[in-house]
Amino acid sequence: MDLGDQMAQGRIPVTEDDHNDPSATTEGVRIETEVKSSDRTDGPTEVVFRLDDVHVYYGSFLALRGVTLEIHKHEITAFIGPSGCGKSTLIRCLNRMNDLIPGAKVEGKIHYHDQDLYGDGVDPVEVRRRIGMVFQKPNPFPKSIYDNIAYGPKVIGMRPASMEELVEQSLRRAALWDEVKDKLKQNALSLSGGQQQRLCIARAIAVEPDVILMDEPCSALDPISTGRIEDLMEELERDYTIVIVTHNMQQAARVSDRTAFFNAEPAEGTGDRTGLLVEYDRTDAIFTHPADRRTEDYITGRFG
Ligand code: ADP
Repeated sequence: MDLGDQMAQGRIPVTEDDHNDPSATTEGVRIETEVKSSDRTDGPTEVVFRLDDVHVYYGSFLALRGVTLEIHKHEITAFIGPSGCGKSTLIRCLNRMNDLIPGAKVEGKIHYHDQDLYGDGVDPVEVRRRIGMVFQKPNPFPKSIYDNIAYGPKVIGMRPASMEELVEQSLRRAALWDEVKDKLKQNALSLSGGQQQRLCIARAIAVEPDVILMDEPCSALDPISTGRIEDLMEELERDYTIVIVTHNMQQAARVSDRTAFFNAEPAEGTGDRTGLLVEYDRTDAIFTHPADRRTEDYITGRFG
């Protein structure tokens, strides 16, 4: 089944109040961090994902409850919050990676371009082509740099006019071409960690996705490699919709247009702590005048 035919790219205008006074701070809160300007997000923007009351279970354990939010096209959306609050669980729902985890169950609705992502007949493999993922630890195949990029397009039967060109374009878009163009036949594992992560981004790009999900993509990298990936994300945002899980609040503030803050709190009737979405807004609002005390405590380091 070709989801490309099914998933009509419906344009859903979203009008937002302008509440972005960058000078505003919550009383008593001083956040000394660089926050991405939100000029770009002022107009109506198309919704790519619409989540409605999403609950995720692992067996009988409710890991995440009642998440409702929208993710917008050509924006970077960051998921932040303390460890165990369900950020990775939620990002994996967006390309049905949780299908691969025994016992994982998703309830509620997730619409992708107005189609039910978990609806009958939706092919999870095609979903994962359109919605690619980059993981915490760079995971290139133990193959040449060239083959790492060419593998995905070959497996899914893409027939580019020139595979060489597709490989070059993917590496250029991932800001890696200049560093590897003379050693394409070299094993990808010989690259540095930061280069390997950009290779994984190039590999995701090669199959022409719509969305790139990044689960802590910089947590295994040094600050210089992290900076390069952050710069790259801003470039990629022009062509792709990006969702990033990060435990690094400064990173969320620097790169993202919108930020969702999650927390893990005791669920009624059980002793379990389950994840929930506390607040979701434009990044500068979250970092300068959060509406919820819990968000404020988290971003000012008073959490816990
Ligand atoms: P975060 O990414 O915010 O650190 P996770 O999504 O990894 O949080 O985890 C949310 C909760 O779900 C945690 O309590 C975690 O222990 C649990 N969890 C995550 N993955 C699994 C799994 N495969 N099986 C069982 N429980 C899991």
